[in-house]
Amino acid sequence: MESNVLKKNINIARMYYPVKTLGPGERIGIWLAGCSRNCKGCISTDFKSETAGRRIEVGRLIEMIKKYFLYDKELFLTQENRFSDLSNKYESGEGKDIFTEKRCGVTISGGEPFIQPVGLNALVREIKKYTEDIIIFTGYLYEELLEKKDENINQILSMTGMLVDGPYIDNLNDGIGMRGSSNQRFIVLNHPEYYDHPEKWKRGIQGAVYGNKIITMGIPDKI
Ligand code: SF4
Repeated sequence: MESNVLKKNINIARMYYPVKTLGPGERIGIWLAGCSRNCKGCISTDFKSETAGRRIEVGRLIEMIKKYFLYDKELFLTQENRFSDLSNKYESGEGKDIFTEKRCGVTISGGEPFIQPVGLNALVREIKKYTEDIIIFTGYLYEELLEKKDENINQILSMTGMLVDGPYIDNLNDGIGMRGSSNQRFIVLNHPEYYDHPEKWKRGIQGAVYGNKIITMGIPDKI
């Protein structure tokens, strides 16, 4: 069973640490590829195509996260050689396990994470062994996810700390809070101690060099 979970595939477009604009503290950010919606004003167009990502076994992804080095502030999914160097350092004892060094949450976004219920279930199940501070952004309403009566989705929700739900609606973008538009809700499903009044969290954007380009992460101000 355990090895089956680790062998599930997930289509991931980007992973980065530290993300400071998508939840409390310094987080691991994971963006999954693919979304069939067409929200006007979507800021995640890079991740909408399923071909924007790369399929990777969940076990391999978790291995990459665990072997991440706090003193090396960037984690590139796309640079395998560089990751191998880091892994070697970790194996030799030079590196530190991010999850044991300090409490570190994970934010999963996209794209639409819930179009990959099998892979997402496996990913969240594995992440939960290290941290229960798991935030997921979805274009679905919470009620729509429940109505699917999908065992994988129900299991994901039972392990999720906080869900930010609902599609982005451009004319409801009020410029306030860590969500794109005012219809989106912060639904704390587990561990309320991690999510203190999320409706008051400020939105912000963080820039970073990712591979050979500059990226931004977070929720931009209303233009
Ligand atoms: S659900 Fe999110 S990723 Fe998909 S189109 Fe809407 S804003 Fe973009």
